[in-house]
Amino acid sequence: MVNCIFCKIIAGDAKSYKLYESEYSFAFLDINPISEGHTVVIPKKHVQSIEEWPEDVASHFMVDLVKISKHIKEALKLDGINILQNNGKAAGQVVMHSHFHIIPRRNNDGVLNIEMLGKNRPKMTDERFKELHEQMKLK
Ligand code: AMP
Ligand code: ZN
Repeated sequence: MVNCIFCKIIAGDAKSYKLYESEYSFAFLDINPISEGHTVVIPKKHVQSIEEWPEDVASHFMVDLVKISKHIKEALKLDGINILQNNGKAAGQVVMHSHFHIIPRRNNDGVLNIEMLGKNRPKMTDERFKELHEQMKLK
């Protein structure tokens, strides 16, 4: 895809600190890390958002994501990792080539305040759960 920075990285036309590459996936260090070792993992196929991922890409990619996560956790002797994936501007996606973030975590590092995610929860009723269930279930 023209002008996609991540496609350029895959092609070797833009610099990256590459960690891993397979037929389906490519992993490199995030240029503006949330914590040291923050890694971006991308499908080689340019897709913008999760709903565009072909099934074969999704399944092979997930195997790679697990492999890379395990390796990073061991290599950096981490206590934990967050795996984040943003879809769409509303969700904070900036680079429109779909990607996963692997964010290294250590005990009490305070680098991500995940707790804040739950600070504005909707008040739910049984009625509302039923409506959402109707609207959302896969038929
Ligand atoms: P997102 O908000 O999920 O779209 O995140 C995009 C991520 O890509 C950010 O964490 C950026 O720091 C990272 N990023 C953007 N350009 C580059 C680049 N050239 N090399 C490495 N990471 C990049
Ligand atoms: Zn791309």
